[in-house]
Amino acid sequence: MDPVSLSMQPAGSLRLGPLAANAPDRCACCGHLAPAASVAGRALCMTCVPAFALDEPDIDKVSALIWLPHLDQPVVSRLVTAVHTARAADSTVIPTTGPVGFAKAAHAVLDMLLAQRAAAIARIGTDRPSVLRAAGLSLNGITIPKRTGVSALRFVALGGWFGPDNGLYQSAAAEWIRGP
Ligand SMILES: [Zn+2]
Repeated sequence: MDPVSLSMQPAGSLRLGPLAANAPDRCACCGHLAPAASVAGRALCMTCVPAFALDEPDIDKVSALIWLPHLDQPVVSRLVTAVHTARAADSTVIPTTGPVGFAKAAHAVLDMLLAQRAAAIARIGTDRPSVLRAAGLSLNGITIPKRTGVSALRFVALGGWFGPDNGLYQSAAAEWIRGP
């Protein structure tokens, strides 16, 4: 879903929820990882939840808005998953004193993605999901022209997680390195 349309969803509807017992085995956004939670009935992975859970109080700590017309959200999410997993793998599974190898390359990719926050700020005045959400809610009841396209706004998960469970990428990295 486009971030602008998402921001106009009813107040309180974009909170984290538990997975349904019959949830699909792949994320409804990126189709890559297994779902970790649900938002508004969508089963989403740990990377994609921060692109949807705009009513969570900590949303700005776990997600940033970027302007990136070249890639859609599912592709950005798969890329971000790979980046965070590479960073976590080098820093925890293979202990180092600083960014080396895959982690160094992953940092560079993340830096390039996050540099696009400036483009989002230039166009909509913010890179904070909470501000976009507040703006979307303020349009409630106002008739706006039907939109025929989607924006180039995307969400980048910052590598943290809501609440105390912030080790999910380390878990993913350990699992991927162990293999099947
Ligand atoms: Zn996902």
